[in-house]
Formats: sequence, structure tokens, C-alpha cells
Amino acid sequence: MAVRGRLSTWERIHKYDPRAVTTCVFCNSHLESHAHLFLECLFSRAIWTQLLNYYGSPWNGLCWNDFIAWASAYWRGNTHIIVAKKLCLGATVYHIWKEHNCRIFKGIQRTSSLVACSIIDTIRCRLSSINLKDHPLIALNWNVNAN
Ligand SMILES: [Zn+2]
Repeated sequence: MAVRGRLSTWERIHKYDPRAVTTCVFCNSHLESHAHLFLECLFSRAIWTQLLNYYGSPWNGLCWNDFIAWASAYWRGNTHIIVAKKLCLGATVYHIWKEHNCRIFKGIQRTSSLVACSIIDTIRCRLSSINLKDHPLIALNWNVNAN
């Protein structure tokens, strides 16, 4: 849903309810769109910065929509490296959205570092169920057992 821009961000809710707040729940200073929430916000950027240390490659500099289009075009198939990349994107979107909802509905806030730790734990857990014996770099990057 995040990739298709279908999550109920404040930008989308505002189209149906003009009284709705439109500012980002993380920084309280920008319009809360999918692009802002998942990539452009300083909170999300801090998470991505931590993840890229594990991911093993720098950010390609694309905006959210271009990144999603690029990933859709190139992340095809189920090779181990593609699965790891999809896991990283999926877990990051899931945990950022979860943090978004926790702040709105429960009034609970975590730091970007704690959210990044949850994402890394999720990815490690999923990768540990995959045989990475022939992919030691993925195992090394994410600090999981290769067997
Ligand atoms: Zn923000």
C-alpha cells in the first residue's frame, strides 16, 4: 500500500476531511505525504542512514517515487540479494508506518535509532531463516549466520 500511495497519510485524509491536520507526525513541519513520511523526513532519513550501513551500499539519491519505480524495475526475481533488498524496504516501510500509528493512536514515541534497531532485528530474523552459505557478503553485512 505504501508503494502505491494508498496508506492513510494526513495528505490523503485531508482530501476527504479538510479539517484534518496535514503536518508530519514525526517532524511537525512538513506535509505528510508518502514521499515525506518514508524518505524525505529527517526522522526517516536518520533510519535509512543507519540501515545503509548494513545494506552495504550508499543511497542512490532518488526521490521516493523514482526509488519505487527503480526498485520495481530492477528488483525482480528471488535471488538472495534481491530478497534482502526487498526485506529491507518492506521492513523499513512497515516499522516507519507502525511508529507513525503508535504516535497518533497510542501517544508513544520512539527515537529513530530504536525504530532502526527494530527494523534491523526484523531483517536479521528473516535472513536467518534463509541459507546464505553461498552469499557470505549478505550474511556479513547483516551479521547473521551464513548456514
Ligand atoms: Zn516529517
